[in-house]
Amino acid sequence: MISIIGAGIGGLSLALALEKLNIDYQVFEKTNSIKTVGAGIWLAPNALQILEWLGILESIQSNGNSINRITIATHDLKPLSDSCQQFIKDKFGYCTIAIHRAKLQEILLQNIPNEKIKLGKSLRTFEKLTDDTIKITFEDTSQIETNYLIGADGIHSKVRKQLFPTNIIRYSGQTCWRGVADIEIEDRFKHQGIEMWGNQIRFGISRIASKKTYWFAVITSKSNSNSIFLDVKKYLIDMFSPFHPIVGKLILNTDECNIIKGDINDIQPLKYWYKDNICLIGDAAHCATPDLGQGGAQAIEDAYYLSHLIAQESEISNAYPKFQKKRRKKVNTIVTQSRSIEKIAHLKYGKRLRNLILKNIPKSMSAKKMIELYQIEKNN
Ligand SMILES: Cc1cc2nc3c(=O)[nH]c(=O)nc-3n(C[C@H](O)[C@H](O)[C@H](O)COP(=O)(O)OP(=O)(O)OC[C@H]3O[C@@H](n4cnc5c(N)ncnc54)[C@H](O)[C@@H]3O)c2cc1C
Repeated sequence: MISIIGAGIGGLSLALALEKLNIDYQVFEKTNSIKTVGAGIWLAPNALQILEWLGILESIQSNGNSINRITIATHDLKPLSDSCQQFIKDKFGYCTIAIHRAKLQEILLQNIPNEKIKLGKSLRTFEKLTDDTIKITFEDTSQIETNYLIGADGIHSKVRKQLFPTNIIRYSGQTCWRGVADIEIEDRFKHQGIEMWGNQIRFGISRIASKKTYWFAVITSKSNSNSIFLDVKKYLIDMFSPFHPIVGKLILNTDECNIIKGDINDIQPLKYWYKDNICLIGDAAHCATPDLGQGGAQAIEDAYYLSHLIAQESEISNAYPKFQKKRRKKVNTIVTQSRSIEKIAHLKYGKRLRNLILKNIPKSMSAKKMIELYQIEKNN
């Protein structure tokens, strides 16, 4: 039996993939319900191709919003780079979809039998009993025995911490607020993903559904995920007052209870994502900063490749090294590039030169990189 720890994007995608391939599994999730984590999420075409294979693309498309144009702009919305995504649609059949995270998780969940997901089960420790038996102890002191363990338990993964205790979580120097405004944005912005870059702060926008607009606000700051703001909306509106008026309007029209704050971190790349019959996927294995909008997509890619490799092997743990070999190069490139973008976006000096370079990057060059990023091996 395969036991998956964590019912986030990676864990649920893996569950659905194993379900489709008729491989037995069970999922253990620490929360008592699959919560409404986060605000919006972009699902790039690499993720969408896999969601199509999983049979849920139509639901994703009908519950989300297609992003047909991606724009990086100055604080007052003057484009620095503006990419019409028609070439992506021509190549893959669809553009990136922006959707509420809760909707994405709900759709994944609807397609997995209830009895396969055990809620309120927070892994505390695991122990190898024999070569092919692992004992898992949960926080409620209950225990189970399993043959294979897959840690899909996110950036703060307990599976990773026990397997590789020296691994380091790296604070990026940036902290972020995310929200969903209950307003319809102007028609011209409806299918546009926008990120506005100011003076070491930035603001992103994309519509995720009718009268729902996802936004994120990122600032350079000391790690302060525990700071409490008495009036977070006022704080953000003041901070972003030099920006285009749409920014203040979105913050003002967001329910304060639904504004989520968190430091932006990644993890130092691991040498191995597995040991014996235990393997890590998603953020537990290779968390990147969100600057390329690829963390969730990479967790979905992990689910796709790992499930297929497992299906091909008579001994499941033989799939793990093959999985890491297949995935490592792409994932490490994303971790490195995300960190660079984040630094470029928040440059203290040299912004003029940066903007000039951005404006003059040949469209064909960025188009080629996007196509490479979104490519999935179909014959896996
Ligand atoms: C600000 C921000 C914006 C982002 N935007 C995008 C985007 O637009 N597109 C994109 O593709 N990615 C984006 N990402 C990245 C994306 O959110 C993550 O990469 C993705 O959620 C990783 O999925 P996961 O399943 O590996 O981990 P998670 O989504 O973190 O899920 C982990 C699950 O494990 C559970 N868990 C944790 N510990 C235990 C335990 N001990 N026992 C049992 N269960 C446990 C948790 O409750 C959770 O359900 C963004 C990230 C951030 C921070």
